[in-house]
Amino acid sequence: MPALLNPIPEPDLARYPSCIVCGNARLSELAGTRQMATEARHREQVFRRLVPPETPGYMLKDRAYPTQAYDARLVVCDRCGTLARDPHLSAEGSADRYARDAYHPAWLESTYREFVAAFDARMPELVRWVGPTARVLEIGSFVGGFLASAQKHGWRAEGVDVGQCVSRFARSKGLKVHEGSLEQTRFPDRTFDAVFVWFCFDQLAEPWETLREIYRVLKDDGRLLIRVPNGEFVERVQRLERWTSSDGLHERLRNLLAYSGLAGFPFQVGYTPSSLTGMLEDSGFTSVHVKNRINVRGSSSAALRLVHVGSQILDHATFGAVKWGPWIEASCTKTGHAVAGNELLTCCVA
Ligand SMILES: [Zn+2]
Repeated sequence: MPALLNPIPEPDLARYPSCIVCGNARLSELAGTRQMATEARHREQVFRRLVPPETPGYMLKDRAYPTQAYDARLVVCDRCGTLARDPHLSAEGSADRYARDAYHPAWLESTYREFVAAFDARMPELVRWVGPTARVLEIGSFVGGFLASAQKHGWRAEGVDVGQCVSRFARSKGLKVHEGSLEQTRFPDRTFDAVFVWFCFDQLAEPWETLREIYRVLKDDGRLLIRVPNGEFVERVQRLERWTSSDGLHERLRNLLAYSGLAGFPFQVGYTPSSLTGMLEDSGFTSVHVKNRINVRGSSSAALRLVHVGSQILDHATFGAVKWGPWIEASCTKTGHAVAGNELLTCCVA
């Protein structure tokens, strides 16, 4: 069985001297290392209960055993509310860890089928947004589920991913995947009609640089869609957890985080609807729209209902303070003028 806390060599870890989004130096502790470890154990138990007991641990990778399960606390920016795992993976540490991340062949096949089906359901909406004959790029193409579905719906799709195992698997499905980071791939200016980042924006150690590169490779009026875990949701749920004395409510809130994939916060950064919007606008994108997304991978319909209903109850019970669900998607358009750049904030990144 995989270890819950995966040790990471010290040189691969770093600390933010200030918020990666707004540059504010005041970062407060939202959850200590002990709470994060307790949440991670709860997440493992929750997903173990959903599958037959003989299910091997490798089939629960990501859901019960995420890549980012090392010992860390969670901090929140006092100004913009963005969350960050502390310590976080350095750019080199992150690339190295995801490059070597290995998955069992049975897990790859079942996840591929699951993702193709999920994206097949989304494609009509995406084709209406981007257009029927488009050249698109996915950053962090993972097992290739989106690329396969996009091709099936008439797009020329290619991906970039640092992961050797998942890139090899996606290529075995006949998909075009460049192994490495977006910056290393060096696409020509204005290559793509749309860029999608479904799985990895929250893992990027240098997100401002990636946004600048996305801007460069997009055609004028090109579209960008980013999905991330909602840091605001995590913060509000954790504060409610501390406030309540009801064991029943406490258990439901903890399950809400676990089923949403957010327990133990296995991500580097928890953007909020407003901090992500501001970042995209500062990077030269316009018409930014943020939407809720329920993202309950491979769980039962009961778990999906719990997250859906739980999010709505939180909205009402807090008089709208928790109006956003556990995951958010931001869609936006590249403007025709040059990017404003953000040298000061870039320098703040450890
Ligand atoms: Zn901030």
